[in-house]
Amino acid sequence: MNVMTTCCVAGCGPAGALVGYLLARAGVPVVVLEKHSDFLRDFRGDTIHPSTLEILDELGLADRFLSLPHSKVSKLSIQTTTGQKVVMSLERLPSKFRFIAMVPQWDFLEFLTKEAARFPAFRLIRNAEVTGLLESGGVIHGVRYQDGAGEHDLEAPLTIGADGRASVTRAAANLPQVQAAAPMDVFWFRVSRHPGELTEVGLRLGAGLGLVLLDRNDYWQVAYLIPKGAAERVRQGGLDAFRTSIISVVPELEDRVAEISDWDQVKLLTVRADRLTRWHRPGYLAIGDAAHAMSPVGGVGINIAIHDATVAANTLWRPLLTGTIRESDLARVQRRREFAVRVIQAFQSAVQSQIIKPMLHASKPPSLPWVLRATLRVPVLRDVPPRLVAFGIRRPHVRSPAMLA
Ligand SMILES: Cc1cc2nc3c(=O)[nH]c(=O)nc-3n(C[C@H](O)[C@H](O)[C@H](O)COP(=O)(O)OP(=O)(O)OC[C@H]3O[C@@H](n4cnc5c(N)ncnc54)[C@H](O)[C@@H]3O)c2cc1C
Repeated sequence: MNVMTTCCVAGCGPAGALVGYLLARAGVPVVVLEKHSDFLRDFRGDTIHPSTLEILDELGLADRFLSLPHSKVSKLSIQTTTGQKVVMSLERLPSKFRFIAMVPQWDFLEFLTKEAARFPAFRLIRNAEVTGLLESGGVIHGVRYQDGAGEHDLEAPLTIGADGRASVTRAAANLPQVQAAAPMDVFWFRVSRHPGELTEVGLRLGAGLGLVLLDRNDYWQVAYLIPKGAAERVRQGGLDAFRTSIISVVPELEDRVAEISDWDQVKLLTVRADRLTRWHRPGYLAIGDAAHAMSPVGGVGINIAIHDATVAANTLWRPLLTGTIRESDLARVQRRREFAVRVIQAFQSAVQSQIIKPMLHASKPPSLPWVLRATLRVPVLRDVPPRLVAFGIRRPHVRSPAMLA
């Protein structure tokens, strides 16, 4: 069956859901294709940063969004087992939102798509897996997708690839890519959380091991950092050694590490960081992780994906509505976003090479780099790292219009 729309979006993660929302709000017919039937995938990013909250506020959605169950994080700490500690505070940010809202990603996406469904121009098709691009004469004019009823072609003057870091559309568009350094992989697991404990979320560093604890109200989502490719070695060491190593870095968890009773509870994330050097082809634009897979450092992937979506809608709503979309419009989106992505990836690389990599290969507890300790003590410098995490670079604002009240 062949169907036609104005903009087809592959993937309904944060980037796809928001660009779909914004374009439909401006009156552009948009179809978002999502390969899963729901958003219930565990161990996805949960951090909704101040600049994303500002964008929701500009759309009149922030109050409703913040009425969903969430926790607030306004301090990020890095602490070693020898007692060194630095704290980055979001409390001085020039924003109405001086905290990161911890909201499960499935709640965020359900919220956004439900709000988008108020616009007649928005359509989300679940269980629809994009398998390739439609192309003729070097111009991409839609996608082929598969659902329970078979294979379909969806024709559109613009396809937005928002299908994440293993993007099928990016591969089909054959866009040039560079890899960024990623010296680690991450195990994810959860253990229960007692009310009121450990109010600062952050990175704990021990000898050869780093743990990040994310507060999800009644449980901790824990990231266990390992050297790249070391997962099998850690598994072979056995669960007892795994649990003991957790206690060595976060002794507060001693009374509950027994909750980890099977390796099935411990999921592996192979960390990847890359970016396209060209985000577009005639009729096609990649955004979010599809254009630049982010390292988990700083938990900024959602924020950056949301910024891409906002800029894409700001730039493209008019040419899409008037039927005049050209590749130069798509190039403008890349120009407006690429610098910000490169700066954040460079910041992540610096954290990885200066803090995480030495720690993962150390046989004794690491020291925090003096540059970091000094930076966070100097009043004019101490807010730079939290600002970078909270806002990214060149944080965008919503410029696309609302056609409906
Ligand atoms: C384990 C883990 C933990 C993370 N933690 C954080 C964190 O704490 N904070 C943070 O900011 N970021 C975090 N991230 C990164 C963050 O999740 C991503 O950067 C962000 O979600 C990117 O958004 P996106 O919309 O570009 O892509 P994605 O969120 O990956 O969304 C892509 C969507 O496309 C769908 N899709 C894929 N292929 C197809 C296809 N062929 N057809 C149709 N649909 C398709 C997928 O099902 C998915 O819904 C984490 C990532 C992982 C894997």
